[in-house]
Amino acid sequence: MNKEFDVIIIGAGIGGLVAGSLLSKNKKVLVLEKNKNFGGYCTSFSREDYKFESSIQAINGLKKHSAIANILENAGALAGINLIKPKKLYRTIFPEHDLEVPQQDLEGYRKLLFSLFPEEEVGIVKLFKVMESIYCEIDKLHREKSLKKSPFLLKYGKSSLSDLLEEFIRDDKLKAILAQYWCIEDYLRASFQPRHFPISGLTIRQMAVISRKAERTE
Ligand SMILES: Cc1cc2nc3c(=O)[nH]c(=O)nc-3n(C[C@H](O)[C@H](O)[C@H](O)COP(=O)(O)OP(=O)(O)OC[C@H]3O[C@@H](n4cnc5c(N)ncnc54)[C@H](O)[C@@H]3O)c2cc1C
Repeated sequence: MNKEFDVIIIGAGIGGLVAGSLLSKNKKVLVLEKNKNFGGYCTSFSREDYKFESSIQAINGLKKHSAIANILENAGALAGINLIKPKKLYRTIFPEHDLEVPQQDLEGYRKLLFSLFPEEEVGIVKLFKVMESIYCEIDKLHREKSLKKSPFLLKYGKSSLSDLLEEFIRDDKLKAILAQYWCIEDYLRASFQPRHFPISGLTIRQMAVISRKAERTE
């Protein structure tokens, strides 16, 4: 193997592979991986008749021409992948509540929470309003380049999720639901940018496509 490279990338996770794939269009790139398999957290594995993703449950921002879709498309990572947009983002089971959280249906999610915690309706509405405003301000920050027109970021920029929940919500069980995996901010993000699940299993195939040009050495 010729040992001269323009770029050396340590780690063949999705980050290293995509960067390597894009750079390799006009640079000589070496990607080094300490594990036997590439893919990092983006790998799938089989047990009996079932296929498991090591981490990826769904990918957001795959709308055509979005930044992420463009990067993955340029890297060849979306070729031959069947994506579905599930109606439910996820299901979580708490000791007293079994929740199926709808995708891209903020009103539906709010209504679900109202039905479980009717006495918290006003707080839920206020909390979602604050989170939505923070989300929108973050989204336009790269254009504004100043916090002057971002009153919610100025007010809550140093607050933790726990501070926000304390301000608007009284019931600890509702706080637990709102603080779970993909809490509200992330839920809002999914409302603006739908999440897709790669039906055929994300990674083995995808990684193979990304690294198809790679010269693999043990
Ligand atoms: C449980 C879980 C669920 C997730 N769910 C989602 C989801 O639904 N949607 C989503 O978009 N994201 C999800 N993520 C996040 C996503 O998996 C990661 O952001 C992404 O895989 C990170 O990729 P990476 O290339 O940056 O890092 P990694 O995947 O960590 O890859 C780093 C690679 O570098 C290698 N390496 C490290 N040190 C060295 C070294 N010194 N020399 C050589 N090689 C080295 C490692 O072996 C590894 O292969 C989830 C993560 C977890 C843990």
